[in-house]
Amino acid sequence: MAQADPGGGAPAPSTGSERVGRICLVAVELAADAADAVAAALSRRVAVPCEVSVRPDLPRPPRVGQREQHDADVLLRTIEALDGGLDTVLVGITGLDLAIPIFTHVFGRAVLGGRVALVSLARLTPEFYGQPPDPALTLERGVTEILHELGHVAGLGHCPDRGCIMSFVPNVESLDLRGHGFCASCEPSAARRIPLASVAS
Ligand SMILES: [Zn+2]
Ligand SMILES: [Zn+2]
Repeated sequence: MAQADPGGGAPAPSTGSERVGRICLVAVELAADAADAVAAALSRRVAVPCEVSVRPDLPRPPRVGQREQHDADVLLRTIEALDGGLDTVLVGITGLDLAIPIFTHVFGRAVLGGRVALVSLARLTPEFYGQPPDPALTLERGVTEILHELGHVAGLGHCPDRGCIMSFVPNVESLDLRGHGFCASCEPSAARRIPLASVAS
């Protein structure tokens, strides 16, 4: 496991950690076509294959207290325990609403410098906020959030630049205002581990 950089923004220390060669989206309580759409959109942002593994067999993570939410860290550990291959990052994607005891909700989680991340689409849908469905917006939010978590996988902490995809966002309004790419400080560290697509527009 790579050394974590708690400062954020600064390049992660070189660990000789392997470059990611494949991203496997592990769909948990999410329809296969929704997972395929996320993979297709994500593959336009990274320069490695994005595959989908639908896993109806994985145990549903426990509730957080009495809330109608499920424990993000339990699900993260469940996915981390899967055998994805040495050069593969496993990214759980789920329709379950996720939280941890100290937060009202989480959009995603990741093991800093590790090989696993997790994103919930539940609170990325306009429907959650009583608005009309907008699959394209949900997809865009989901991919942005996955890239943020992949930045953590690359060893990045949160960035103070609000235009940077690595800045922390507490709610969906802030998420929509956040930039969709890595800032000049974060990008080299992210790209060292996660090959990124060159974005033309
Ligand atoms: Zn984060
Ligand atoms: Zn940044």
